[in-house]
Amino acid sequence: MTVDMTTFLAQLGNRSDQATGAVSAPIYLSTTYAHPELGQSTGYDYTRTKNPTRELLESGLATLENGARGIVTSSGMSAIALIFELFPSGSEFLVSRDLYGGSYRFFEELQARQIAYFHYFNTLNELEEQISPTIAAVFLETPTNPLMTEIDVSAVAEIAHQVNALLIVDNTFLTPLRQKPLELGADLVLHSGTKFLTGHNDILAGVIIAKEVSLGERLTYLANTTGPTLSSFDCWLFIRSLKTLPLRFERQEQNAKEIAAFLKHQPAIKDVLYPGVGGMISLRLKEAVKVRSFLKELSIFTFAESLGGVESLITYPTTQTHADIPKEVRESYGLTPDLLRLSIGIENSQDLIADLTQALSHI
Ligand SMILES: *Cc1c(COP(=O)(O)O)cnc(C)c1O
Repeated sequence: MTVDMTTFLAQLGNRSDQATGAVSAPIYLSTTYAHPELGQSTGYDYTRTKNPTRELLESGLATLENGARGIVTSSGMSAIALIFELFPSGSEFLVSRDLYGGSYRFFEELQARQIAYFHYFNTLNELEEQISPTIAAVFLETPTNPLMTEIDVSAVAEIAHQVNALLIVDNTFLTPLRQKPLELGADLVLHSGTKFLTGHNDILAGVIIAKEVSLGERLTYLANTTGPTLSSFDCWLFIRSLKTLPLRFERQEQNAKEIAAFLKHQPAIKDVLYPGVGGMISLRLKEAVKVRSFLKELSIFTFAESLGGVESLITYPTTQTHADIPKEVRESYGLTPDLLRLSIGIENSQDLIADLTQALSHI
């Protein structure tokens, strides 16, 4: 029976343990598994290779993104690092300009060591100008972080596939509830599982889902080889968190819509960047010098990095998430010092609006 994602997620792990009937899936902490006899295996040998708790989570995430295979790792960054193990040394990549600062830092690191080379694009035109048969893959985020620009995944997939380049999409901001890149032509989708998917600011995790079995198997092989796999306890917490993902995300998005509408009418705010979907909003203050006092005056929004959790956060990309992008580069594409990023939680929206109102009135 095919069911809605909400039903699928609420039931994740139920009926997985026929022997006891456990409704909440067990956590398999054992790192090693006994072999019945020489040449035989239960299917489990060593936890880096395969673990029942992780397997349940990985297959659930693959179903959610409509892919063939899921791989769960210790962080979003280790998921990205694992993906880049797929390519021969010296490969070239085209990357969306506005992206998570940690991804940029990683790409700069690979380039400095001459392991890979990166070219950046802001628009589809710039992508088309730079695409060539030497490009191994296109990597993008949409909506972009923190400028919230939406990129047409289907159009990029078409351009990438003309030269046999893979398309890799970081789907952290929208989750499969709002966007399924593999259905739009992407070959690999990844997440910082730390954000909306787990949603409680208490688990660091990464996810990769491959559209094709072959690429998925290669990534599984590489994960076993290099070992960035997530611990079984965190896999279990991840499964538990996924059960409430639709409830959390719908509430965060509804709150974000109300807050974005409110922010548009505030005289101290120059711009509100909200794509109309999801729980992330960026804004520009009219006066960048007011950033410090605005952050200080807020009492419900917490000044902290990260996003996607049940608690509302406010981030200053210039000194936090995007500090490793050189100032000239950042400012050239609009990541200016007046920009703040809000991650909307599940609190009462009127309380969040009241907090913003009082902080704006004091700056
Ligand atoms: C946080 C984040 C990452 C990195 O994930 P970690 O879990 O922090 O390693 C990658 N991409 C995006 C869009 C993110 O927000």
